[in-house]
Amino acid sequence: MPREARGGRRGPSAAARARKVRVLVMDVDGVLTDGRMALSERGDELKLFNTRDGVAVALARRAGFRTAIVTGETTTIAKARGEKLGVDKVVLGARRKGDAIEALLAEFALGPEAAVFVGDDLLDIPGLARVGLAVAVADAAPEVKAVAHLVTRAAGGGGAIREVVEFVLRAQGVWKATVGAYVRDHGGLPARRR
Ligand SMILES: [Mg+2]
Repeated sequence: MPREARGGRRGPSAAARARKVRVLVMDVDGVLTDGRMALSERGDELKLFNTRDGVAVALARRAGFRTAIVTGETTTIAKARGEKLGVDKVVLGARRKGDAIEALLAEFALGPEAAVFVGDDLLDIPGLARVGLAVAVADAAPEVKAVAHLVTRAAGGGGAIREVVEFVLRAQGVWKATVGAYVRDHGGLPARRR
């Protein structure tokens, strides 16, 4: 489970904030990945993603959440990952993430309290300042943790999104039902174990 951070001591608890969440917004580098990228001589880029975060996005969607990726990078890797995960929106080249998240929320017709945003570095701070639940990964920059309501135990690329989704769905009392529905969608348990 993630831990409450300094931002959480002002106003509602992280759990109270989580109860209002309807949209999961994620940074890519340092959140869905560990922040490293491999570059070939030809300039090809490779990133490593965590499959458990992929399942977390599926769980969030199963629970009826909108999902989005907002990255400052312009590489098509983020777009490909987003498409594979079935996220509603991938915003590339977002150098002003606060504005990008405001535009997203307007598009989804949701208020700032309905958004959780997970970030790791300085570019994420304006975005974190505009959402109801601001989350920093364990190895985020100290300045990012300082504005977060919640800090994950996992580092970026290490299942941080899985932790956030579990925290939010548990706060809303739908974690077990959502996991059950997800398992049923994929074949369910043998009859004797139902
Ligand atoms: Mg980042």
